[in-house]
Amino acid sequence: MPTPRVVVLGGGLSGMAAAYTLARAGWDRVTIVERGPELGGLAGSFETAGHFYPLAYHHILHRDQGLLFFLERIGALADVRWRKISMLFQLDGRMFDLAHPVDFLRFPMSLVDKLRFVRLMLRCFGKSDWSEWNERSAADLVDTWGGPGVRRAIFDPLTRLKFNLPCDEVSGAWLGARLHFREGSAPLGYIPGTNWTKVLCDGVTRLLDDAAVQVRLATSALSLVTEDDRVTRVDLDSGESLEADLVVSTVPTEVYQQLLARPRPDLDHVRYTAVVSAIFATKQRVTPTFYWMNLASRDCTACGIFMLNALNPTIGAPGDTCLNIMTHVPSRHDAFFHQSDDEILAGYRADFRRVFDFELEPFWTQVNRLGMYAPVFRQGYENPPLRDAVFRNVYCAGNYRTFPSIASTGTGLASGVEAGAAMLADHGGTTDLPAEIQRYRLASMPRG
Ligand SMILES: Cc1cc2nc3c(=O)[nH]c(=O)nc-3n(C[C@H](O)[C@H](O)[C@H](O)COP(=O)(O)OP(=O)(O)OC[C@H]3O[C@@H](n4cnc5c(N)ncnc54)[C@H](O)[C@@H]3O)c2cc1C
Repeated sequence: MPTPRVVVLGGGLSGMAAAYTLARAGWDRVTIVERGPELGGLAGSFETAGHFYPLAYHHILHRDQGLLFFLERIGALADVRWRKISMLFQLDGRMFDLAHPVDFLRFPMSLVDKLRFVRLMLRCFGKSDWSEWNERSAADLVDTWGGPGVRRAIFDPLTRLKFNLPCDEVSGAWLGARLHFREGSAPLGYIPGTNWTKVLCDGVTRLLDDAAVQVRLATSALSLVTEDDRVTRVDLDSGESLEADLVVSTVPTEVYQQLLARPRPDLDHVRYTAVVSAIFATKQRVTPTFYWMNLASRDCTACGIFMLNALNPTIGAPGDTCLNIMTHVPSRHDAFFHQSDDEILAGYRADFRRVFDFELEPFWTQVNRLGMYAPVFRQGYENPPLRDAVFRNVYCAGNYRTFPSIASTGTGLASGVEAGAAMLADHGGTTDLPAEIQRYRLASMPRG
């Protein structure tokens, strides 16, 4: 009997992983439809003078099981190197490395609050299941385990940078899960000599080629044709149509709703933030050396500065300093998102001057606008279901479904695998991929 015709909407990591899961189980009529010229979505890259760069900063998290599993599967995990990075907090013209005892002591927060902050972080590092905090706010979490002083000094500025919201409107489960990943305190991974997201996307693309998944690049899904409670056809902007027995939707829920051309109040709560990101290459030396600087002063256009070569010294050409200056924008409808490249670059260079007291002189720049990055994880956020609530042959994957975990490459990959596995289970197939990811443990973390 022929296997079902599956159309996967979106060729980011979630869509790639869903297609791989199905094809690996022997389903041979799987097609990915991807709007962009290559697979990869938010984890894509761009090339300048023979070197590849991420669209914005990207690092490997040591607790991101889905990512580590796929890196091993494509044969790239052995190349990953780990580096302890320095994360700075820039506040009112001063910089603080909160992991450094001297900076920690001079940070404007009382000694009691500093001890409470340490207690909060240790508790979060050790806790992996955050479901009991799903209904509670980040303010509740920080105030209970740290204190209001810790919230006001550190976490209110951080949630404002991330979502433009104070802690009391952000999910406590999301903040706890995010701290559990230890992004600022554990070593972060990269692959020397290259941009690791390119290695990942190329490797998973090879897995798809080997498994004979059909891929339509530079092709947008325009609309979904429905009959009763099923999606039966996907109309493409090329004028073609793909008949579908089953569909995996990995496009943002706002896009999915547009494709259906009908209201879906059950998905209205998922609202996406956007990102404006600029990469600057310069021959200038920037000190102090840091990887990640949170710009907590309210006078900056940007939310953060990443010195990409402080994590991966081999990114770009030898001797280059490669900076990513970026802003989390509340929505792609925000005026800032639509500023010209020149205006954005001018704003970021002014931020740089304010922080480092000299003029940034890049020899190339690239501005990337990412319209739908991740949902705003407000207090009480609920993941839309894996099996679509209205159309029973549609399965859903993507980072709008991975709350409260962080929105990462690995959670995207794992979400795609989960959707593929559910589809197989409902139609007589099986896969061991979810269990393999669940069991996966990193054996070693060689230092860079
Ligand atoms: C600024 C930034 C920093 C990040 N940092 C890290 C990090 O340090 N570490 C980490 O692990 N992760 C990081 N991530 C997260 C990671 O990149 C994403 O979570 C992951 O790539 C999401 O994959 P996805 O497939 O779910 O979504 P997407 O990549 O958004 O995929 C959806 C795909 O659907 C396509 N699409 C949309 N509409 C249509 C249509 N109508 N027809 C066809 N195709 C369509 C899009 O082109 C896209 O390719 C970062 C992301 C950003 C933006």
